[in-house]
Amino acid sequence: MRYDYLIVGAGIFGSIFAHEANKRGKKCLVIDKRNHVGGNIFTENIKGINVHKYGAHIFHTDNKRVWDYMNNFAEFNRYTNSPIAIYEDELYNLPFNMNTFYKMWGVKTPAEAKAKIEKQIAEANISVPKNLEEQAISLVGRDIYEKLIKGYTEKQWGMKATELPPFIIKRLPVRFTYDNNYFNDKFQGIPIGGYTQIIEKMLKGIDVKLNTDFFIYRDELESQADKVLFTGMIDEFYNYCYGELEYRSLRFEHEILDMENYQGNAVVNYTEYEVPYTRIIEHKHFEYGTQPKTVITKEYPVKWKKGDEPYYPINNDKNNLIYSKYKELANKETKYIFGGRLAEYKYYDMDQVIERALYMVEKEI
Ligand code: FAD
Ligand code: UDP
Repeated sequence: MRYDYLIVGAGIFGSIFAHEANKRGKKCLVIDKRNHVGGNIFTENIKGINVHKYGAHIFHTDNKRVWDYMNNFAEFNRYTNSPIAIYEDELYNLPFNMNTFYKMWGVKTPAEAKAKIEKQIAEANISVPKNLEEQAISLVGRDIYEKLIKGYTEKQWGMKATELPPFIIKRLPVRFTYDNNYFNDKFQGIPIGGYTQIIEKMLKGIDVKLNTDFFIYRDELESQADKVLFTGMIDEFYNYCYGELEYRSLRFEHEILDMENYQGNAVVNYTEYEVPYTRIIEHKHFEYGTQPKTVITKEYPVKWKKGDEPYYPINNDKNNLIYSKYKELANKETKYIFGGRLAEYKYYDMDQVIERALYMVEKEI
């Protein structure tokens, strides 16, 4: 069998590329080393609940084209992410907003909250934030940094907040309104029935081989296709010739509990360093489930080593420089193209990956 494209990785990037290429008359073979499609957005139905097996995935975007595109494959509900943060015996609303400021300092107006934060910024004497710690203090002051950011960040990344790039904390909104919406995007929701159905619809009629690692069957697979889209780790693709990129991994502990409602919210963050997990997800709340049982997942950050799942790229200067060398090699290729969170080594959300995949198909075909 001859294929126009061999697609390595059945995550959202590979699946969109395959779907769009197939629509344009190209024959595709999609492979994945896992035993299921979907990559990290994979959901599995357990006790009638769609369980996000690789961590909570909340779909949000400002891009209407991306939103409309995804709505072709599923109906999205009105879920709005509003995590709770637990620090010792205190509960706070996230993201950082008037509810958080009221709980932290008892301030009731935006002017009072701003005055508190400005005083703490002045005390810290920061002009241009050079790292995550300085960026966080500049945004929300030292008290919030100490209770809600430092411990969470340092266990999540396995590094000091002073060694991490500022952009990571800028992912979160800071607002002077009583609004607990974790995202600023225009569109947000959870696909009713989970994410796996979306990927299955995208891959309908396309050849898919699971449990197939590209690096084990490379010669045989490549001989069947004119071009290869690779969505795995770019440093592995080039046999680490410029050195290893760093990743952060996670361990997910799933539990089925014999109760209807465990924590009353889909996402609860544990911001103390001493609690070994970062968050507990209660999946039924993503779809307003009323099942008699519940499924929760504890998310433990772990040091990444070769062979582990590389969930997060660590985009500091050192790694970005190594990546830029791999990117130079990638730019010269004629048979291979690269896309997605691992091949582009970028901390992308789903909507960015979708946008990139749609752009790549249009450029390619
Ligand atoms: P992946 O999903 O990683 O897919 C790559 C696939 O390639 C994998 O299935 C892998 O098995 C396969 N593969 C790799 N190497 C090989 C090989 N050698 N041979 C065969 N197959 C291979 N985004 C949001 O928008 N909202 C969220 O709430 C959100 N939450 C997240 C929570 C966590 C814990 C994580 C880790 C990510 C989250 N994301 C979220 C980001 C989102 O998961 C990614 O943007 C998206 O899934 C990336 O898609 P991808 O196709 O690039 O990569
Ligand atoms: N963060 C934090 N406290 C929290 C939640 C997030 O300090 O309660 C910081 C932490 O550094 C994290 C970053 O904000 O890595 C981005 O958070 P986000 O929820 O976007 O992370 P993701 O869902 O991608 O893991």
